[in-house]
Amino acid sequence: MPAATDTNLSAVLYSVKNLRLEERPIPQPGPNEVQIEIQEVGICGSDVHYWQRGCIGDFVVKAPMVLGHEPSGIVSALGDGVKHLKIGDRVAIEPGVPCRMCDWCKEGKYNLCPDITFSATPPYHGTLTRYYVHAADFCHKLPDNVSFEEGALLEPLSVGLHACRRANITLGSHVLVCGAGPIGLVSMLCAKAMGASKVVVTDISDSRLKVARDMGADGTINVGGKEPKALAAEVIALLERAPNSSIECSGADASIQLGIYATKAGGTFVLVGMGAAEVKLPLINALVREVDVRGIFRYANCYPTALEMVATGRVNVKPLITHRYTLEDSLDAFETARTGAGGAIKVMIHCGRQA
Ligand code: NAD
Ligand code: ZN
Repeated sequence: MPAATDTNLSAVLYSVKNLRLEERPIPQPGPNEVQIEIQEVGICGSDVHYWQRGCIGDFVVKAPMVLGHEPSGIVSALGDGVKHLKIGDRVAIEPGVPCRMCDWCKEGKYNLCPDITFSATPPYHGTLTRYYVHAADFCHKLPDNVSFEEGALLEPLSVGLHACRRANITLGSHVLVCGAGPIGLVSMLCAKAMGASKVVVTDISDSRLKVARDMGADGTINVGGKEPKALAAEVIALLERAPNSSIECSGADASIQLGIYATKAGGTFVLVGMGAAEVKLPLINALVREVDVRGIFRYANCYPTALEMVATGRVNVKPLITHRYTLEDSLDAFETARTGAGGAIKVMIHCGRQA
């Protein structure tokens, strides 16, 4: 339980480029909820986007909103009815809580629930705060050998896992991952953990491609200035055959075109990156070669498996973290995430009081 003197310092986005630190009330858990003393929160590109632009598509920040949706922490109070957690448990918080009633929830596709409440997607507050209240069934208990930072990284890792599941990756797959940002890198890690025998990663940044190689990519291509069709031939040569599965994690038009040209006939191409709302694509090429083009939106039923992968050492997400800040230094953290200064990939904010 928080002490009577405790405060609830939070990083609140008021309007475009207006991020402030302020004290907010400490929230109390209702039935089937837990209060969590937040420890670590990773900054995601969408947090930076809300800060810089005030909106993502139809989601517009109209009232002050706490940022952050990649959290881990310690259970500090229990609401009525909570059975599977106790005070002091270390947890990763899955930030999207669906209605549990609609068709999509019942079908297990709860990421598509129209009534989902997702941390730091307006109008819902995020987790860059000392104390946060969340649905207990969307808090995943961490074993002792999984750190709070790794717990926070289960969020992007779940995106990568969902992408790999939708891409039908299996033992022996040859895979193309476009984009070596955090999402491309976790997709590459998941693909390898799920048995892919060869993964090639693209980017326009040599430093990011070096990180991809250091983290296990079998080959990398700097795509800068090259045509998608010529690049597809390069990908196929490097993989020694066309990829069964391709996962696009940059959102760039040219990269989506490459994904269609490169993917093996009968294979699967998954779109993760969110770029322009409308893109010109060689769809007939996909049609005549029966390349399935699929999108993903966040993830469903991925946290438990992502946690198992980390706990058993099948994936090592730690190298993603390049910068660490405290909650008090959130503005500096966001500036680093925005500029990518110092080779920033994943910027982590420590929200706990102790180091
Ligand atoms: P990021 O911006 O850190 O990474 C994108 C990478 O793509 C960068 O390294 C950039 O250099 C590279 N890139 C740019 N042009 C390229 C090109 N033509 N070919 C190859 N690489 C190119 O972003 P991130 O956090 O890794 O997220 C990646 C994308 O995934 C973003 O568009 C984000 O909005 C999206 N996303 C989607 C979901 C979802 O549910 N679908 C979830 C999370 C993130
Ligand atoms: Zn629902």
